[in-house]
Amino acid sequence: MISELDSIPDIWRRMPSEMHARRFFEGIIWAGGRQCPHCKSGNSGALRGKSCRPGLYQCRDCRLQFTVTTHTPMHGTKLDLRLWICAMFLVLTSSKGISSVVMARFLGVNQKTAWKMGHAIREMMDDRNQGLLPLDDIVEVDEAYIGGAPKSLSGAYNPPGKGCGKPMVFVAASRDGQARAKVASDDQRATLEPVLSGWIASDDITLMTDGSTSYLGIGATMEEHHRVIHSQHEYANPETGAHVNTAEAVIAQVQRALVGVYHNLGRKHLQRYLDEIVWRWNHREPVREVFKQWTTKSGALRKKTTVIWRPIPVVDQVRVLLQGAVGKQIRRSKEYGLCWP
Ligand SMILES: [Zn+2]
Repeated sequence: MISELDSIPDIWRRMPSEMHARRFFEGIIWAGGRQCPHCKSGNSGALRGKSCRPGLYQCRDCRLQFTVTTHTPMHGTKLDLRLWICAMFLVLTSSKGISSVVMARFLGVNQKTAWKMGHAIREMMDDRNQGLLPLDDIVEVDEAYIGGAPKSLSGAYNPPGKGCGKPMVFVAASRDGQARAKVASDDQRATLEPVLSGWIASDDITLMTDGSTSYLGIGATMEEHHRVIHSQHEYANPETGAHVNTAEAVIAQVQRALVGVYHNLGRKHLQRYLDEIVWRWNHREPVREVFKQWTTKSGALRKKTTVIWRPIPVVDQVRVLLQGAVGKQIRRSKEYGLCWP
């Protein structure tokens, strides 16, 4: 079992042939035994004929053939599976994301291929199987309106904030390091309440919001609700511990990814980029690190430590990605784009 993936040369050293990558995929996706992706049967056999492609199996119940990538976002890929692992490595280790142009250069594939690979990986990051822990305890929510000026109005006065016509992103973050983000049509209670209740396990939470009045109704249904009124220059309340800085930090990550990497971002793809940014946020762990140590005059060693949130090892993230991959197939559209189910 591969326990670590340190770099791209390391991937090629640990997987000298595509067969190794296929075994790696099979070991994760079929960790509980090989399962037919068509009918979920566990009764299947390998096809080893001369004309069969490698890794092909046939179900003994529905008689359909499958490989490890069937019905995943990698369905029908003709690329070496090691390139897919390298693409995942690049996406998971880049701090603000990686553009398809840069990924194409690193992997030696066409930019359009890299774009599709990036979207396939983002599709695996979607939490529709509810694999993430629900938000708990103190939950901060905030919203942001993101993107540049509309193309038809480039050069025109481009106001920020509510009513600007830009897509709205609704963000919730708990202070233990979990976050969610979703594109929402407006900031009304009727829109936001069902989204938030899908992210939390119970109403037994302390909600922290800014001064927006749309949160008043939602806050009344929760255990506690604290507000910081930004328009009155109140950004934190030391008495109640109220602030929405964690949620604003998630929004800052979104803004940075848009400014730094994904410049030409279509509105229809925005949710998938949000999934990637939130994935990065959710797959970190707190590490206590010494940032300063000194010896006092009496000879005692003193240390100052701080908690740093580090990404969890890449191989563990790849494992989580692949475990949820079956059933997230993406289809090619007639215009050489992609169709999502
Ligand atoms: Zn079957």
